[in-house]
Amino acid sequence: MSAPGSNGHRASDRHHGANDHRRVGVLALQGDFQAHGRILRSLGSEPVEVRTPSDLDGLDALVIPGGESTVMSLGIEREGLAEPLRKLVRAGTPALGTCAGMIMLDREHLDVIDISTRRNAFGRQLNSFEADLDLRGIEGGPVHAVFIRAPWVAEHGPDVHVLGRVDDHPVAIRQGNVMAVSFHPELTGETRLHRLLLESAP
Ligand code: GLN
Repeated sequence: MSAPGSNGHRASDRHHGANDHRRVGVLALQGDFQAHGRILRSLGSEPVEVRTPSDLDGLDALVIPGGESTVMSLGIEREGLAEPLRKLVRAGTPALGTCAGMIMLDREHLDVIDISTRRNAFGRQLNSFEADLDLRGIEGGPVHAVFIRAPWVAEHGPDVHVLGRVDDHPVAIRQGNVMAVSFHPELTGETRLHRLLLESAP
């Protein structure tokens, strides 16, 4: 890889070049981890499927996908992943949680962000729906968001920034190095959230 700036590009451009081999862990116990892998690869990074603690070694960023939070919790317990995941995120590694991934990051689960989530919050009639959301910090127009039995943020502490809402309920938040969204950006070809994750990786 060429030295930073030696090719005349801004430092941030390097993040999207063919030489970007940043390794991004995607928790792969259950859920739609493959869709995240495809987006990360299309952005030039290397997705690493995480199933055991040793898969976390040397990661530059982490994604926790959507799926079923109860099943994912059991898998995390079974594989002894809770403490290593907590350590990685608390050390400042950029992390993105989507849908069940948002739930896994909350106070009641990994407890790495100061939010409580309400599961399946939109109720039976609205099991799944789509919406165009303007998100703070995401340039270039609204994000087309697919919600599937999605949670919302029921409560949050002062360090949590709300980036977007549906019916006044927070569905996208950031706290420091962690971003969590209730919806599935990985199902619509949306790449801006993953791009932001890569841009904040060292
Ligand atoms: N309803 C699921 C749960 O509570 C989340 C759904 C999803 O990730 N699409 O775990």
